[in-house]
Amino acid sequence: MGTGEDTPTHGDAITQALESIPSGVVISAVGHRVVHGGEKFVDPTVITDDVVSALEKISPLAPLHNPANLEGIAVARAALPDVPHVAVFDTAFHHTLSAAAFTIPLPEEISESEGIRKYGFHGTSHQYVSRVASTLLGGALEDQRIITLHLGNGSSVAAIRGGKCIDTSMGFTPTSGLVMGTRSGDLDPGVLTHLLGGEHMNVSQAQEMVTQHSGLLALTGSSDFREITSRANGGDERALLGLEVWAWRIRHYIGAYAALLGGVDALVFTGGIGENSGEGRLLATKGLEFLGISVDPYLNSRRSVEPRTISPSQSETSVFVIPTREEFEIASQTAALLGTSR
Ligand code: ADP
Repeated sequence: MGTGEDTPTHGDAITQALESIPSGVVISAVGHRVVHGGEKFVDPTVITDDVVSALEKISPLAPLHNPANLEGIAVARAALPDVPHVAVFDTAFHHTLSAAAFTIPLPEEISESEGIRKYGFHGTSHQYVSRVASTLLGGALEDQRIITLHLGNGSSVAAIRGGKCIDTSMGFTPTSGLVMGTRSGDLDPGVLTHLLGGEHMNVSQAQEMVTQHSGLLALTGSSDFREITSRANGGDERALLGLEVWAWRIRHYIGAYAALLGGVDALVFTGGIGENSGEGRLLATKGLEFLGISVDPYLNSRRSVEPRTISPSQSETSVFVIPTREEFEIASQTAALLGTSR
């Protein structure tokens, strides 16, 4: 749920959501999405006062997300004090990354004191859609090599071998990796040191620039993929270039992750763009036939809310569209932790 005019804060949104639950519905637990679990939280965790204190300490690692998550937790715990509350972390699915994948080559004393490493985000989504893909693929889980593309306003890619994540495109923050709606994705650190060293901007302006004024918005003037594709179809040069830059970075990651996985059995599209934009999926897979990746134009153009295959039959690599269900995954993990039935 977003925070629109009627819900100025995340806390108000939670209050409104709780009020909208029909009377007679018994709530036996509440699962909360928490974006950053830091190095400490890698499993779903029952929320206590101590957990809240630990999460407050992690907040500087995700200043745009964790404070809002904590606000929601406080409001929900006050409204429903007698049921267990569980935190499910967006970073958790990525805790299987090897040191080679998560280590950032900065001086050790800085990395250690600041907790600087790759964490990865969108984990609940990557976990859910990769599990569905694994079932669709069939065969032995330990042999499966899957690349999941979560493409929405925030976007990320994950490489998953045998059900475990081995790499992902978001890093220390959710700003790195793919070109997103308003986030830059991967950026030469020299750009920031150049801008911060001159008269151009201070740290908070730089932070605002890379999180809110970059990505597709900066390239095309809009962060709305529907609007961008419709402008591109009308011949708008900025929109056309913006889509090329967006797709170039996705193909770059697919190639890199195919190399790390040693091949690809399935490529999965999810998120608002991945699930709904056939044009986006075509651009993202253009020229990848050498990896066995291609999209059947008819299957790609069909609309459905069901998980589906869009690669031609006999393809070496299956291409799936799998609507993500982060809320379902959070509820499932909460129920599994508490041993309650759904
Ligand atoms: P968030 O990261 O905020 O959860 P979403 O996953 O909802 O974002 O994705 C939002 C993006 O999906 C927007 O760029 C929007 O234009 C795009 N999108 C949603 N529906 C469609 C559609 N039918 N066709 C193309 N793009 C779509």
